[in-house]
Amino acid sequence: MKLFTKCKYCKEDIDVKSSARTRPEFRSEVGLTTKVICTKCNQTTERHVNEIRARVNTDIVVYGALTGIALTGILFFFLGAIAVVTFLIPLLVYQSQMSNVNSFNSYLVRSYPDQKK
Ligand SMILES: [Zn+2]
Repeated sequence: MKLFTKCKYCKEDIDVKSSARTRPEFRSEVGLTTKVICTKCNQTTERHVNEIRARVNTDIVVYGALTGIALTGILFFFLGAIAVVTFLIPLLVYQSQMSNVNSFNSYLVRSYPDQKK
């Protein structure tokens, strides 16, 4: 899972570095707002935690798929058709990422006007 937000100026996606898996976790890590620097136009903007979105980290899914294919190829010699179950690995990786992404995006942190941190 990757966190990102859109640049206010050029609409480019900006990656947000965090290991948080949920929005409340992210909020307790950075506070109610976080500063992000656009890699395209170099503008610094302050974004509310609710404006940070999660998406599936496709690198990990592709890596999982390649590993799955490689493992299937190797194991097929020893195990035969049962080796095909290794194809499930990238699928499971994708599924667990999707459920993390969905729960992150669907949960919004409540904020009050007088609450800064
Ligand atoms: Zn920008």
